[in-house]
Amino acid sequence: MKQTALIIGAGIAGTCLAHQLRSKGIAVQIIDEGTNHSSAIAAGMVNPMVFRRMNKSWRLDDFHPEAEAFYQAIEKILGVKLYHPLVIRRFFSSEQERKLWDQREKDPAYEAYLEKLSPQDLQHQGANNTFGSGRVKKAFWIDAAKYVESHAAYFKEKGLLMSTRFEEQYWQPQLRKYKDTTYDFVIFCMGYLQKEEPTFGYLPLEQTKGQTLLIESAILPENESLNRKCFVLPCGDKRFRVGSTYEWNNPTLNPTEEGRKELLANLESLGTYDPKVVGHFAGVRPTVLDRRPLIGAHPKWNDVFVFNGLGAKGYMMAPTLARELVAHITEKTPLDPEINISRFTVKNV
Ligand SMILES: Cc1cc2nc3c(=O)[nH]c(=O)nc-3n(C[C@H](O)[C@H](O)[C@H](O)COP(=O)(O)OP(=O)(O)OC[C@H]3O[C@@H](n4cnc5c(N)ncnc54)[C@H](O)[C@@H]3O)c2cc1C
Repeated sequence: MKQTALIIGAGIAGTCLAHQLRSKGIAVQIIDEGTNHSSAIAAGMVNPMVFRRMNKSWRLDDFHPEAEAFYQAIEKILGVKLYHPLVIRRFFSSEQERKLWDQREKDPAYEAYLEKLSPQDLQHQGANNTFGSGRVKKAFWIDAAKYVESHAAYFKEKGLLMSTRFEEQYWQPQLRKYKDTTYDFVIFCMGYLQKEEPTFGYLPLEQTKGQTLLIESAILPENESLNRKCFVLPCGDKRFRVGSTYEWNNPTLNPTEEGRKELLANLESLGTYDPKVVGHFAGVRPTVLDRRPLIGAHPKWNDVFVFNGLGAKGYMMAPTLARELVAHITEKTPLDPEINISRFTVKNV
């Protein structure tokens, strides 16, 4: 008989995990209450660089190729267009930043991701430009709302998705039983709402609100994503996503006037683009203070797992981390200690 898994949450974490488990012959059942406030709100950008320190993103060389291949395979499974290659143009915020780029572009480890600075890059007039600009290669974006929506339709059509709320009173962790069904494995993928769920409520998950705008502009370039203080993501038809705010310890879901002003001011500091705001979105990221995901087995209940803490980079990390968690579940492959929830004390469990 096939082994069975219950997945709670159908955001980027739960859906990646569902594909990985199914590829190992495990039958999945997913529960999602149908109101996603993170994976569907995200800009879905995969940016290889962290501009603050001008470093490659953590485990980039593991995550990036696998994510790229995963989304292109998923497009074929779901029959929708999700993957869009992207050039990110970073306008340097200081001389120090430009010097760092200069050093990195000479480093073979960065060769695949950074274009060498040209005189045109340094003088580029796509934004107010004091310190020059550089182009990041191999970035891409995923149509996040479409990703979530088409997964819900796909799993629903296969009878694998229950569109309902997971309710704690029907959950018996010692038996891995939810309502009348016992599962071989149960994996919690509830995003920022995990904090309010008792099984893994002890983990130090933070709720970090983010807002973005959808604008129209006839001036902004559509062939690259401008970046400094904010990102400007071209979505086609002269529409752009501008983001994001970072509002710590804030799980509220309403777009605010302060958020709108902050984003427009950041855009204004890039340049004068005559933006017309046509949409305003808010969501909550599941973040962790040490900036590493929260993945692994419950310290007390056998075969009960969590897959969370994807922070601001869920679209880049989830495909690889889902595969690693499934290898851990099915083959007992050890998890990277950096992501394993065993790094946190369990005295309150
Ligand atoms: C404004 C903003 C911009 C972002 N931009 C990017 C970006 O450009 N690139 C990037 O990689 N990441 C981005 N992120 C981060 C990214 O969205 C997260 O890393 C990712 O969505 C987290 O996915 P998740 O599956 O863990 O959580 P979620 O997407 O929140 O999924 C959790 C699911 O669990 C379900 N659920 C919760 N509780 C229950 C319950 N009791 N019963 C049933 N179902 C339940 C919810 O309905 C939800 O669908 C952004 C986030 C925000 C807010």
